[in-house]
Amino acid sequence: MIRSVCGYCGVGCGLEFDEKKLVGDLTYPINEGVVCAKGVSELMTMQTPTRLLRPYVRKDFNSAWEKVSWELPLDLIVNKIKKSDPQKIGIYLSGQLLTEDYYVANKLGKGFIGTNNVDTNSRMCMASAVVGYEKALGLDYVPVRMEDLNRCNLLIIIGANPAEAHVVFSNRIKQAKKSGMKVVVIDPRYTETAAYADLYLPIRPGADIDFLNLVALRLITDNHIDHQFLENSVNGYDTYLKKIKKQPKTKLLKRTGLTKAQFEVFMKLFYENENIISAWTMGLNQSVQGVDKNLAVINLHLLTGKINSPGNGPFSLTGQPNAMGGREVGGLATTLAVHLGFDTESIQKVSSFWQTDKISDQVGLTAFEMIEAAERGELDLLIICHTDPIYHLPNRKRVEAAFEKIDMVVEINAYEDSESAKFAHIRLPATPWGEKEGTQTNMDRTVTKQEKLTRRSIDCKDDWEIFTLIGQKLGFSSAFDYQHPKEIFNEYKEMTRLSRKGHLNLYESDYDALREKPFIWGEKLYKEQGFLTPNHKASLHFIENLRLSETTNLKYPYMLITGRIKDQWHSTTKTGVVRQLLRHKKLSFVEINSSDAKVEGIKSGDIVDVMTARGTLSLSAVVTDAIREKTLFIPVTERKINYLTTDLLDHESKQPDYNQNAAAILKRIST
Ligand code: SF4
Repeated sequence: MIRSVCGYCGVGCGLEFDEKKLVGDLTYPINEGVVCAKGVSELMTMQTPTRLLRPYVRKDFNSAWEKVSWELPLDLIVNKIKKSDPQKIGIYLSGQLLTEDYYVANKLGKGFIGTNNVDTNSRMCMASAVVGYEKALGLDYVPVRMEDLNRCNLLIIIGANPAEAHVVFSNRIKQAKKSGMKVVVIDPRYTETAAYADLYLPIRPGADIDFLNLVALRLITDNHIDHQFLENSVNGYDTYLKKIKKQPKTKLLKRTGLTKAQFEVFMKLFYENENIISAWTMGLNQSVQGVDKNLAVINLHLLTGKINSPGNGPFSLTGQPNAMGGREVGGLATTLAVHLGFDTESIQKVSSFWQTDKISDQVGLTAFEMIEAAERGELDLLIICHTDPIYHLPNRKRVEAAFEKIDMVVEINAYEDSESAKFAHIRLPATPWGEKEGTQTNMDRTVTKQEKLTRRSIDCKDDWEIFTLIGQKLGFSSAFDYQHPKEIFNEYKEMTRLSRKGHLNLYESDYDALREKPFIWGEKLYKEQGFLTPNHKASLHFIENLRLSETTNLKYPYMLITGRIKDQWHSTTKTGVVRQLLRHKKLSFVEINSSDAKVEGIKSGDIVDVMTARGTLSLSAVVTDAIREKTLFIPVTERKINYLTTDLLDHESKQPDYNQNAAAILKRIST
């Protein structure tokens, strides 16, 4: 029997494999034997007919793919790197990668090619949370763990749907509810999570800041704030107070679309419960004011002192299995490595550690900024690794046109049916979950080891190995002489000593020991040394709803929001294959409120056109009261969804505003 960890979502459940089947690991503290349908399907997705098993090259998008050995594509890539200005090279990584893959790709790009244009699809997922935590608490650090639910009295879930997206975490919420914890869900959709909440608030899309400011104002008015905590541990209270007091309460409430009675029930719950956790994901992060929405949540915890004690705090839930590991390694273009930036001291430290003089002090291009660079003809080479930007970046027509301008697009993937494959010149087959080993960090800083369960498919390579080969062919053999993920982990672990005050204490972990016992980094942080800011105090930031998102109008009177659905994963390259076993939900549909459907003459099952300023999609309608009036919902498993979405970005996190798209709906075919 082999113990491993699920590679689907940020919960990171422990699994047991006995050659025939995969089951939950009873001894693993995160899930204690419980797994969801995605977790148990991992085994089935390893050998699907859609696996990419050989390297392929072609001259242009219209030519046929040619099956080749590894030598040719690697030489083509290396020659292209040698001929290109490093600033015209981009590497786009994924929260699906293991930490060792991330580490080698980041070291190659930032340390040796000399481009900081190394970003990750986590940019689309929780970049706003990263910046929010840094601005408020001084560090990209999640100060809550899942086990805190056992001490929590009130869980506020805003812009998240764990019952469908983080299933085993949702089970833990239900367990905690049995012990008396109350749950509030704030969401424009009545989701499966809302169904078990004690209070559901059907907020209007885009009104989160208004709601959170209203709560802050009320806490201050009722003197329900922690003066001592504010005095000892928080900067900026006086300025915050002056500004928040000027916010118009009645207008704020009106914008939320909630009634006064609903708001009062919420406040009563807030006052009656001692320990409070707020949890959120894409509903807040994927916004033109995503960072501000994070800060508005964190403000409530700073005002009340409900942070850094058991059962309290702001808890950003990460979507992907190793989004956190990528953040730690430096997989975001806005960080260099181990939470260090591009200041002179950090560059010196990292240069000395990697023995290189090639690190640029220019902050890298984030995902969508690479698209903008491509539009200007300033991207010669893009290496995509284990992700599908043509599918998931917003405003797809624009992204496709930009890709056509890139000289060379390389796709490293375990599956062949990505949307990005249509725009690639080279495809390299990588090992999927179960054929490789390495470490990953889940959403509450738990570092675990994924194990190799079977031999790898003949012509596939681990992602770290592909970047190692490129590094060697570029002439950096001594910096890239890895034979095994353990060597990479050990190098990375040493590097974590460079982190500020050694806060990223992976240097205390042991690769082999992770097989038996996960390691949780930063357990004592904040509690012992205060926040990681110069004066060890957190910062309140006054936030207001600047209403920068797209707004509805006569032509596009609906607000289109997006989200995940149960048992499916992103682009469905894996889960789509086993969907016959997971058939309780369709992959593609549009939800419309029943009163809107009546006005539009739409019935469930009708084929409708959904239109935005960017494109039109034909979809099957689902008429339901689970969605607010004047709001439409399409799941992200609809492969063409981003022909509709806006490319507005948060100006700090560069995360797209996927959840506010002005749209129209029109019936095409009746059923
Ligand atoms: Fe895997 Fe997430 Fe399901 Fe756990 S909850 S089994 S980590 S997909």
